[in-house]
Amino acid sequence: MPRMIFINDRLVSEEQAVVSVFDHGLLYGDGVFEGLRSYSGKVFRLDAHLDRLYASARAICLEIPLAKEVVAKAVNDTLTANGLTDGYIRLVVTRGAGSLGLDPNKTKNPQVIVIADTISLYPGEYYEKGLRIVTAATQRTQSAALSPRIKSLNYLNNIMAKLEGLQAGCVEALMLNSKGEVAECTGDNIFVFRSGKLLTPPPDAGILEGITRGAVMELAAAAGIDCRESTLVRHDLYTADECFLTGTAAEVIPVVEIDGRKVGAGLPGPVTARLTREFHALVRR
Ligand code: PMP
Repeated sequence: MPRMIFINDRLVSEEQAVVSVFDHGLLYGDGVFEGLRSYSGKVFRLDAHLDRLYASARAICLEIPLAKEVVAKAVNDTLTANGLTDGYIRLVVTRGAGSLGLDPNKTKNPQVIVIADTISLYPGEYYEKGLRIVTAATQRTQSAALSPRIKSLNYLNNIMAKLEGLQAGCVEALMLNSKGEVAECTGDNIFVFRSGKLLTPPPDAGILEGITRGAVMELAAAAGIDCRESTLVRHDLYTADECFLTGTAAEVIPVVEIDGRKVGAGLPGPVTARLTREFHALVRR
């Protein structure tokens, strides 16, 4: 059965869901997106994802032609049309078709697209045994060049780092900022547990402020775990007791090796396991 895709104002079959080759989303990565998940028929933190989408759009002077409520309904309708209760949703807004020059003022009709599907980002065994990651030589883009807080369609910075990870036999890679501080992984935020504290880099380290990251920080606080944003360097990771990544697609996943060094005992730790359980309970509530 072909998937049903929402595009602009209606649901169409996937063959009919097409955009112009002149769309600046295609030509320049000029646009914004979100990745969301639904659990038991309910989209997790839909409002937070929509707020981030509209903030990303605002930062690049892209006016989304639909109201938030309309996009929210489109997300839910697309899930329903594809018979999905536990699904992954990709929400994309392109700049629209224009001339071959960069000028966004010469484009029209931003395209709003909702794709609903299932996703399993990493094989199940990684959740049990943990991931190995390496530090990429590719730095996260400096905020002064292109803020990582904008979830734009231009993900080449992350893809360059992802390629380095894959070439080293790892499915994720750590990205540092231009000061050599830990920023995030290519598609996930990072946490470490060390000296009894749960630590994650602050937004000004040059990260996307992940919605899963926010949920995990709340869960940690509720569980009485001392959790704070802190500038981290690789030494903090190498000497941590535990490490894990968070993201909508990945959820919470343990990291057991960084740059060839075992994290703690080299096994997923108890704090990671507890927060994973709490996260699964939260998304089903
Ligand atoms: N960082 C980057 C670069 C990402 O692409 C993502 C995935 N959207 C995340 C972090 C995690 O964010 P979230 O928890 O909102 O999915």
